Amino acid sequence: MDCIFCKIIAGKIPCDKVYENDEVIAFLDIAPISRGHALVAPKRHFQDLAVTPAETVSAMMRVLQLIAPAVLRVTHAPAFNVGINNGAAAGQVVPHTHFHLIPRTDGDGLKSWPHQRYGPGEGAALAKDIAAAVS
Ligand code: AMP
Ligand code: ZN
Repeated sequence: MDCIFCKIIAGKIPCDKVYENDEVIAFLDIAPISRGHALVAPKRHFQDLAVTPAETVSAMMRVLQLIAPAVLRVTHAPAFNVGINNGAAAGQVVPHTHFHLIPRTDGDGLKSWPHQRYGPGEGAALAKDIAAAVS
């Protein structure tokens, strides 16, 4: 399979690994948003979060929680964002499910997404539709 993360996991492409266990690998992003920006990915290939089994997501999250304090300690960052770009329209470039762990510091200049407002009743109607669509 022509997947860059599968190649990293198979050892065919080098990475700056920070942790691995039987199910999950964590390594530094090659183009970091901030110093210590790490990626957490399962060793099995799943295209995105939607098709990743819950047990695998759980294993990924355990690794994220395990490495986060170490990343913060070493980079002297007090906080971090966890991000998932799920699908191309959301900015997913590598179609192998992964979490981004992005260390954050006060005044680091990284902007958050702009917020909008719902019109009267719009949020309630939307929530009702989504609730009905949850299967
Ligand atoms: P996404 O946009 O969520 O698919 O993120 C993919 C991330 O993988 C990007 O932030 C890239 O910088 C990163 N990336 C791509 N190739 C490599 C690589 N060989 N080693 C480490 N990170 C990579
Ligand atoms: Zn893959």
